[in-house]
Amino acid sequence: MFPVSQRYILLLILILFVSILSLVYFTAFRNSREKYINYWGLSWIMYGLSLVLNVFLISQPATPLMVAGKQFCDLLNSLFLLAGTYSFVNRKFPAYWIQFTAVNSIWIGLAVYYQLSFLMITLLSSIFFSIVAFVNGVMLQTSLGKNFLGRFIVISVFLVWGSYKAYYPYLYPALSNSSTGYSVELILANLMNLAIMIIYLRKIREELTQSESLFRVFAENAQDMIYVYRISPNMGYVYVSPACAEILGYGQEYFYQNSTMLASITHPDDILYLDALFDPSASLNEPITLRLRHKLGHYVWTEQKTTFQFDEVHNSIQAEGILRDITDRKKVEEELILAEASRQTLLTDVSHELRTPITTIVGYLSVMRNNGMKNAANMVIPDLNGTGTDYLDFIYKKALHLQRLVQDLFQLTQYDSGQDYLNFSQITIRELIEQTVEKYRIDVTGKNIEFQLHYEQDPQFLNAFLIIDEERIDQVFTNIIYNAMKFTQLGGEINVHLGYGSEGLKQMLQVSIADTGEGIDESDLVKIFERFYRSKKSENKRDGSGLGLTISKEIIERHKGAIWAESKAGKGSTFFFTIPIYQPNIKS
Ligand code: ADP
Repeated sequence: MFPVSQRYILLLILILFVSILSLVYFTAFRNSREKYINYWGLSWIMYGLSLVLNVFLISQPATPLMVAGKQFCDLLNSLFLLAGTYSFVNRKFPAYWIQFTAVNSIWIGLAVYYQLSFLMITLLSSIFFSIVAFVNGVMLQTSLGKNFLGRFIVISVFLVWGSYKAYYPYLYPALSNSSTGYSVELILANLMNLAIMIIYLRKIREELTQSESLFRVFAENAQDMIYVYRISPNMGYVYVSPACAEILGYGQEYFYQNSTMLASITHPDDILYLDALFDPSASLNEPITLRLRHKLGHYVWTEQKTTFQFDEVHNSIQAEGILRDITDRKKVEEELILAEASRQTLLTDVSHELRTPITTIVGYLSVMRNNGMKNAANMVIPDLNGTGTDYLDFIYKKALHLQRLVQDLFQLTQYDSGQDYLNFSQITIRELIEQTVEKYRIDVTGKNIEFQLHYEQDPQFLNAFLIIDEERIDQVFTNIIYNAMKFTQLGGEINVHLGYGSEGLKQMLQVSIADTGEGIDESDLVKIFERFYRSKKSENKRDGSGLGLTISKEIIERHKGAIWAESKAGKGSTFFFTIPIYQPNIKS
């Protein structure tokens, strides 16, 4: 037997060891928040308490109450150890363990009360300790999978510890209260804890690799770019998902090699937002929208969100970000804004266009009404020049204009909403000339303007096919020829020419309609195909809605052709349009 002082030292070492262990468990708990670590921590605290009581047991004759206290601490130590293990292997903690502990405590209490022998006090708890140790060992070894050696060692350690605990009272005091007994206790407790620690670390490592591989599966296959950016100690990308190449054109290596990659491709106007993205104090809930320059030079709209990881003193050490390409969404938003704006202008233009003729009609009608309707045709209205017939004519013309305007508008809105379907049919260029173009000769010459029609005489050209909506193409001729008539003085000339044109490799029919009228100013020329656009000159002088050319452009483009105009002010204008030719050699 060792002297008492040596026993103290050994016990103190044990207590120190247990305190450190408890500390380790509670620190681990702070980081992982796993319940089982907390239980194990508590278990080691109880064990420590039991050792402290042991110090008293050595220093003075053991009172039954002290023995009971120590047994009680050991009971709780076992119970918590078991609760931790159940939680570790994800199993519900059965209530019978608590009942068993309760019965045990009552037993100890009664045994002390009736002053039974030490052996009787500890009898039930000894059985309890050995069962708990064995159950613990069995449950923990299952988490070792196929590692037989590991399983064997774990079961053995717990069995030995359990047996030792069970036989401890029988060996008392010869062994248990001796330094040899404490050494055995120390070694066993160490071994057992080592086993638990190894199993715990294994589990953590497995969970880490599992969650890491899960993260990789998600990140590598995500359409969004996912990145991990280290802020401290030195900045740089730790991980960038392959979607970066898809979204920004840059491969992962660009990010790994350049810690300021994101900043270097951020639009200068958006740089300020980028700072906020990497500033944890900004505590952003809303994602940040940034324009990033694609490798090919264009800008990509992105939406980004970051979360941060902090060290113990709350300095951000890492940012995890997700970057989504929202270019398509932005495009739709912009289109919606544009559509809304054009709807607004259309409404303003339409109401303006309708107001003028209606005001005129109402004005004339009210004058006539005030002068009575009897003999309206011949009456002379004092305030105005002309007779009632002249006014009726005027009103009729204005009403016709309104009708045309409403028709044009209706057609245009149908084009806009994609509801206007063309009625295509096959027709030769010769048929187009005979059925459509020729008929304008009468209209034009009737206005004392010369009408000249020229076309390629080559039969291959004349028999070439067009696939067109005849009515709509006729409408284009009407719009352009009537404009030419409007702007050409008496004795002038309208020259229609049909020949070959081309667009890339496609062969086209090219129509030109030239007049000798007043021409179009250069500043107007670029705008005449716009909705409601009318030159300053024609606005006051001539009838028109400013929709004819817009509609003509729409029709020609729907035929996969092009339309444009050339003009020299004072020297006349020429309008051109093309229509694709199909199967040019079929009839000859
Ligand atoms: P409108 O109903 O006013 O004729 P258009 O869309 O057909 O509307 O034409 C738009 C504008 O283009 C006209 O108001 C006119 O200023 C100009 N324009 C069109 N054709 C001619 C032409 N042959 N000569 C001079 N100006 C023309």
